[in-house]
Amino acid sequence: MDHFLYRNGALYAEDVAIADIAAAVGTPFYVYSTATLTRHFQLFDEALGFADHLVCFAMKSLSNIAVLRVLAQAGAGMDVVSGGEYLRAKAAGVPGDRIVFSGVGKTADEMRMALQGGIRQFNVESEPEMVALDAVARSLGKIAPITLRINPDVDAKTHAKIATGKSENKFGIPISRAREVYALAATLKGLKVVGIDVHIGSQLTELAPFEAAYAKVAELTEVLRADGHQITRLDLGGGLGIPYERSNAAPPLPSDYGAMIERTLGHLGCEIEIEPGRLISGNAGLMVSQVIYVKSGEDRDFLILDGAMNDLIRPAMYDAWHDIIPVVEPAPGTEPARYDIVGPVCESGDTFAKAREVAPMQPGDLVAFRSAGAYGAVMASEYNSRPLIPEVLVHGDQFAVIRKRPSYEEMIARDSLPEWLD
Ligand SMILES: *Cc1c(COP(=O)(O)O)cnc(C)c1O
Repeated sequence: MDHFLYRNGALYAEDVAIADIAAAVGTPFYVYSTATLTRHFQLFDEALGFADHLVCFAMKSLSNIAVLRVLAQAGAGMDVVSGGEYLRAKAAGVPGDRIVFSGVGKTADEMRMALQGGIRQFNVESEPEMVALDAVARSLGKIAPITLRINPDVDAKTHAKIATGKSENKFGIPISRAREVYALAATLKGLKVVGIDVHIGSQLTELAPFEAAYAKVAELTEVLRADGHQITRLDLGGGLGIPYERSNAAPPLPSDYGAMIERTLGHLGCEIEIEPGRLISGNAGLMVSQVIYVKSGEDRDFLILDGAMNDLIRPAMYDAWHDIIPVVEPAPGTEPARYDIVGPVCESGDTFAKAREVAPMQPGDLVAFRSAGAYGAVMASEYNSRPLIPEVLVHGDQFAVIRKRPSYEEMIARDSLPEWLD
């Protein structure tokens, strides 16, 4: 559920009319709902009520510091995958002991930054990374708390670009080698093993692959404990999917997910961490865009928007579906029209939807892409020299720009001419 609803024929974000935001900031833009972000976090927090736990928001899905502040105030920790994300979490006021550091290629500089600034744990993904972290920690006179990310070799049954839990993927340590690598970890004086980490992919729409992975984690926990390791924390990753298409069956709820975790892992007495991204941020955001032209082609009509693939790349990158709805609610009984909905970028891949049925549109009309909060703004670029679009946060009847649209001058000023071309 979210807080983007029609009221008296106009689309609202909480108590703010989308058209009012468009008038204030121009199009295209992203808008996020505070109430939706908070509610989604709370669903996970409640679902894990059976154990000591921390819900660490996977901030790669949406990393604006205002959004992070909302979630941190609600009690969330953060899952970060780079030094930049670590510093954003800190800038949002998240304490180090609520930040977990994931990612397959942490550099020594990033490790140093996190060890000096405070970190809950590193999720280590390989032996070379483990050895490097040990050296960095010892050079600082510190001990780095770690889990090892285990690749459980299960099929997440999701889009190939976001499946991470099969042995052919680059992520984690093969489960068949786990005992050996934990034994090595125990010999390294700069590290303290605290648990096990697993993350099998994103946009999972069934619980079965999670359950298969977590059953392997349960078994491994017993084996490692018998080997003498202290396994007190299980980080179960993120990946629960959202309903991008309203007409499809809804994926499992956080409460179902929590009940399954309790069933498969509850008996171990471990602290539980999860790292949801998309399910917290996805349906908490819209991208709003304006129709520039309605163009009639040979056999189809095109809706040409001012938003493009550089602003929201998911359709081009993952063949993703986004519901696209008019900001003015169509009158009851309006016959839909059918359009290919596209942006102005010079690539055929700049197509948001093909043969999509929506209410008939005119130039100047506003449309909203639903479920655009996750992997939207964070993946935007300035391709075609289109400045990054602004982000807006709504809270009740208030709204604020939380990242402004750069001017053309600001965009161009980031380039510089070498002396010899002056
Ligand atoms: C991407 C990622 C997540 C979040 O995935 P969602 O599908 O957005 O929930 C969590 N943990 C790790 C390690 C990730 O790489």
